[in-house]
Amino acid sequence: MSSLLDAELRARLDDLGREGLARHLRTVSGAHGPRLTLDGQDVLCFTSNNYLGFAHEPALESALGHVLETHGLGAAASRLVSGTLDVHVDAEAALARFAGHERALLFSSGYAANVGLLQALGTHDDLIVSDALNHASLIDGSRLSNARVVVTPHGDTGAVREILASQRATARRAFVVTEAVFSMDGDRADLRELRAICDEFDAALVVDEAHALGMLGRGGRGLADALGVRADVYVGTLGKAFGGFGAFVASSATVIDWLVHRARSFVFSTAVPPILAASALAALPLVEAADDRRRAVLTHADALRDALRARGLRVGGDGSGIVPLIVGDAAAAVALTDALLARGVFVQAIRPPTVPEGTSRLRITPIATHSAADVNALLVALEETLDGRAPGANGPIAGGTAKGGRARAASHRRGTGA
Ligand code: PLP
Repeated sequence: MSSLLDAELRARLDDLGREGLARHLRTVSGAHGPRLTLDGQDVLCFTSNNYLGFAHEPALESALGHVLETHGLGAAASRLVSGTLDVHVDAEAALARFAGHERALLFSSGYAANVGLLQALGTHDDLIVSDALNHASLIDGSRLSNARVVVTPHGDTGAVREILASQRATARRAFVVTEAVFSMDGDRADLRELRAICDEFDAALVVDEAHALGMLGRGGRGLADALGVRADVYVGTLGKAFGGFGAFVASSATVIDWLVHRARSFVFSTAVPPILAASALAALPLVEAADDRRRAVLTHADALRDALRARGLRVGGDGSGIVPLIVGDAAAAVALTDALLARGVFVQAIRPPTVPEGTSRLRITPIATHSAADVNALLVALEETLDGRAPGANGPIAGGTAKGGRARAASHRRGTGA
């Protein structure tokens, strides 16, 4: 190892530590759920995307028991090399039906799906219009595409319209790319308006339903379904409400065929393991039937928002299971996380580059298997923490906005993680 490389990276890491941006991997022993063991400590967990509680669900696990025996562990190679497994075919057919599109294609993660999708669809003649708060995978896929990429302020459909009005004529094809429910803010894209704009300018609407899938729409089909809107390309992730891992893109047979030919994260990557394809298939009826669980998440989230607002705190994400509590300063957000952990509650601080500068936050995510008492315990821990800090009128919980604000100036610099 070059000592220069080590020395330079250590200096940068030390800088990040001073800026409150150091990251640590904490160890969870055992399964994910409303409670877990974190670095040996029993904690209440309010910091996952396991919205419906299916990451550890006996009904799902028992349905999968036989798959390891019949199909083994690995898929052996890319599907274009060693063949598509029957479980891939079955899962894709079911996911396509569920999403209401002709065909679906599994990817090994949501990150791989978005990168492969946009890289494959966009060419240097094309235009991609992308929301400023889109996930890192959508940003990276846009960059890899060679298309002209224009980033519009978060949620600003007027800006999307203006860009298409002024630039559509010089692009062969155009894509409007958005998350449905934004991952770190919990707010919703105006998909009806975006659909209308896409229709007016003959652009394709690409919607990443990662945080709406399983949570909104009929049977958890997502935000587009809830609004009666049809996306041209639908991205769903299987590591969140579905409780497993992987992702799928659903669209026309032609788009999916193109991805099989050109999405590099599909073509040049080992296929999704059979147990994960089977888990998507097995989770589907559970997700569809999970209205009670969806309601529980939204009830918990509403209760949290009401209580935090009553205390004058800045929260957002209304109508979603995501409750961003905006802190502003990265070090203050970390201090809040640490103070809550000392009280047995785990809520990870989310900082730049995952969110724009000045909008560090606790992203609080209740799950369906939390009880009302768990939610109350979180609120008590927060109260104690904040009172202990005697923040005053403009204490550490201030600044930033859950709906954009400063975020508008910070275009496409987000990374992944916390
Ligand atoms: N898209 C969005 C909106 C996300 O929030 C995430 C996840 O974390 C992804 C894609 C990536 O999905 P995955 O975690 O399956 O790679």
